[in-house]
Amino acid sequence: MQKRHLAILGSTGSIGTQTLEVVEANPDIFEVEVLTAQNNADLLIEQAAKFRPNVVVISNEDLYDKVFAALDPLDIKVYTGEKSLVSVVAMESVNMVLTALVGYAGLIPTVAAIKAGKHIALANKETLVVAGELVTELAQKHKVDILPVDSEHSAIFQCLVGEFHNPIEKIILTASGGPFRGKDREFLKTVTKAQALKHPNWSMGAKITIDSASLMNKGLEVIEAKWLFGLTPDQIEVVVHPQSIIHSMVQFEDGSMKAQMGLPDMRIPIQFAIGYPNRLKSNFPRMDFAQFPSLTFEKPDYETFRNLSFAFEALKVGGNMACIINAANEIAVAAFLRDEIGFLAMSDLIENCMKKVSFVRIPTLEDYIETDKETRRLALEFV
Ligand code: NAD
Ligand code: MG
Repeated sequence: MQKRHLAILGSTGSIGTQTLEVVEANPDIFEVEVLTAQNNADLLIEQAAKFRPNVVVISNEDLYDKVFAALDPLDIKVYTGEKSLVSVVAMESVNMVLTALVGYAGLIPTVAAIKAGKHIALANKETLVVAGELVTELAQKHKVDILPVDSEHSAIFQCLVGEFHNPIEKIILTASGGPFRGKDREFLKTVTKAQALKHPNWSMGAKITIDSASLMNKGLEVIEAKWLFGLTPDQIEVVVHPQSIIHSMVQFEDGSMKAQMGLPDMRIPIQFAIGYPNRLKSNFPRMDFAQFPSLTFEKPDYETFRNLSFAFEALKVGGNMACIINAANEIAVAAFLRDEIGFLAMSDLIENCMKKVSFVRIPTLEDYIETDKETRRLALEFV
C-alpha cells in the first residue's frame, strides 16, 4: 500500500485525536505532514513533538508565539491566520486531507484541497451541507475521492464496496435518538446544556453532541448522504436505533438489504476512510452479540424534533437553503451552549432564518459565503 501523507485539520478534537491513534498504530502506512488546531495550543505542541509533521497551523493568532517557541527548535514550521489552512492543504507532500474541524470553517480549506488534487477523508459534514453540489462537482472535475468518516456514511460506503455498478433503491440512516429520545416538547422546554451534552452512545465534540440531541445532526447527515451518494430525498429514510450497533443500511433494487455493524467506535470509520480500499488490522474492542440481545428500531418523531423535518425541506427546496440551516444552527448551538437560548428556541431560530434569508436557486461559492454571513447576522439578532 502506498504511504498516505496526511494533513489533519482539527487534530486536537475528538475525531482528530482518534485519527492520530490510528496513525500511531500503523506507522508504515501513515505519515503526518500537517496538524492544525484552533485554540488548544498545548495539545497541538504535544502532538507535533510526537508525530513530527512538516507544518502546524494554530488558527488563533494570539497563540502563535507560544506554539512557535515550542516547535521552531524541532524544525517544525508554524503558521497562523485565515489563509494558512488553505495553503497547507495544497502542499506538495500531502496526498490526503482529513477534515476534522467543526462547522462552516471546513468549507474553504476543503475546496482548496480538492482544487489541489488531494483526496478528502471527510468528517466535516457541514462542508457538504453548505455547498454539497459545488463540492461534489469539483471533486469529480479534479478526480479526487471524498471518503466519508461519519459512521453512517462510512457504513453505507462499506455496504456499497463491490456494488458501485448497482443502483441504490434507498438508504436507511440509523440514529441513536440522542439523550432526549421519547421526550415531548413540554420536557424539552426546560432541558439544560448539561443534559443535552450527555450522549448515550458516543463521546464527541460539543457542537455535534448538541446536534445529536436536537436531531439536527441526523438532518445534516441526510443532506450529507444526498451529496455523497447522489440520492433523491425519497431515497433517504431515517430510523431510530438506540443501540447504535447498525451504523446504516442500503437497500438494492432486488429488495436485498445490507447493513454495516459494530460497536460505536469512530476509529473504525476513520481507519476505513484513510486506509481505503484496505481494511487494516486493529485491536479495537470487538462486538459480542450476547451483550446486545435486542436491536430495536422506531420511527423518528419529526414533530418534536423539527430540525430533521427542516433538513428534508432543504433537500426539496435546494439552492442555498441547507447553507442557511447550517449557519443558523451554528449560531443557535453556540447560543444554547452559552445559556442564552433554550433548547426549543434553536429550532425556532433556524425556521426564522429559513423564512427570511435571501434564497438563491443556483448559488456560486461567493453566494454561499454571503448566505452564511447574512444568516449569522440575522440569527444573532434573534438571539
Ligand atoms: P471537536 O470540537 O472535538 O474538534 C474540533 C477540532 O477542530 C479541534 O481541533 C479545533 O481546534 C478545530 N477547530 C474548531 N473550529 C475551528 C475553526 N473555526 N477553525 C479552525 N479549526 C477549528 O469536534 P469533533 O467532534 O471532532 O467534530 C469534528 C467534525 O467531525 C465535525 O464536523 C463533526 O460533525 C464531525 N463528526 C464528528 C464525530 C465525532 O464522533 N466526534 C462523528 C461524526 C462526524
Ligand atoms: Mg454520524
